[in-house]
Amino acid sequence: MIMQLYRGELFYFTGLSANGEPCWSYYEDGALCVEDGRVLETGDYLSLKTKHPKSREVDYRGYLLMPGFVDAHIHFVQSEMIGMSASQLLDWLSDYTFPLEGRFADKQHCLRIADVFVHELFRNGTTACAAFGSIHAASVDALLGSAAKYKMCMIAGKAHSNRYAPESLCEKPEKGAEDVRILIEKWHGKGRLHYAITPRFSVSCVSEELKICGVLHEEFPDTYIQTHLSENKSEVETVMGLYPGSKDYLQTYEENGLLTERSLFAHGIYLSDSELKRIAENKAVIVHCPTSNSFLGSGIYDMHRANEFGIHTALGTDVGAGTTFSMFQTMGESYKVQQIKGYMMPVMETFYKATLGSAQALHLEKEIGSLLPGRFADFIVVDYTSTIPQRLRMDYLEKLGKATIGQKLFGLQTMADDRAVKATYVAGDCVYEL
Ligand SMILES: [Zn+2]
Repeated sequence: MIMQLYRGELFYFTGLSANGEPCWSYYEDGALCVEDGRVLETGDYLSLKTKHPKSREVDYRGYLLMPGFVDAHIHFVQSEMIGMSASQLLDWLSDYTFPLEGRFADKQHCLRIADVFVHELFRNGTTACAAFGSIHAASVDALLGSAAKYKMCMIAGKAHSNRYAPESLCEKPEKGAEDVRILIEKWHGKGRLHYAITPRFSVSCVSEELKICGVLHEEFPDTYIQTHLSENKSEVETVMGLYPGSKDYLQTYEENGLLTERSLFAHGIYLSDSELKRIAENKAVIVHCPTSNSFLGSGIYDMHRANEFGIHTALGTDVGAGTTFSMFQTMGESYKVQQIKGYMMPVMETFYKATLGSAQALHLEKEIGSLLPGRFADFIVVDYTSTIPQRLRMDYLEKLGKATIGQKLFGLQTMADDRAVKATYVAGDCVYEL
């Protein structure tokens, strides 16, 4: 295969320093050298062009090349219900989520929405995600099948649920386990696909179901676990009423073998010190989903407190309670809610958490989230000035002599959306172009 040389401004994270600060590489006139779908090397354009004179050059001068985003929590089966208003989480689930998820019993519907969903991720510059399906195995078949078409890195699982939902969305725990074993056999570890054991949350799972999920993870220890935790006050009260023997919400998962270093807990807003400590000790991950938390009035995640506990926090859109597929907007909302909480989140922390940080949370940092040599060439081409206010801001920054990479990224985080994504590449192939 011919080597490709993508020329443009280049930015990516390389890891964390000894004191936990994100480290990055930046080239103003840079080049990204791609061969067989992976990054061969990066550097200054002139030196790489001299080194690889026969490479095929793609000119993205004036644009930023950076790794594709990693969305660590999203519901594929809720794509059609973004922006449906309801008072709070539990009403929203019964008013919109359950009726919609019932439609995924139809295989054709699964296939249609899977294609739309994957395309929407690419349009927003997201090249990897951890996604919830519905209770139906067909929803995961459709989604992972669609990701496979593009050689995309995708983590997905069918939801487990056996109460607090219409009968059609409840199943016997053994039936769920049977479906999961088939799905794991079919998809897990095939190409860039991974399976996540997916109990919806402790409200919708009896203890026996959570236990079966723990057993499945023990049987397939390199699968992920994804679920929800402490999103909303009435949810926490409901869980404590349903699990009177548990000292807190986290214990309902912990006592069933679901608190592991491969566990992704969305939200984590109302956690005690003890819960945060146990999450940190077990190296589990909290996925912060700010647009969802504000939309449903759930509360504000305390990023600074979680950082103090040494917890790995990733970022997620949580579509459909989240109001956007865009990780730019998700980072912007994260910054705003953390400001309200009194924590001025550094721009390098938000970008890190949306790329390499989430990749590390998923134990996939050797594959995605960065443009270091050997990683998959999952990258996006970003326009700093896709709207007039962004152009004006950039002109002003340049006039001030302050157009640093930090200021430019902060502008994207605050103002960019899908219009800023000029192109998206997955494993070296262009999967979307504006
Ligand atoms: Zn969610």
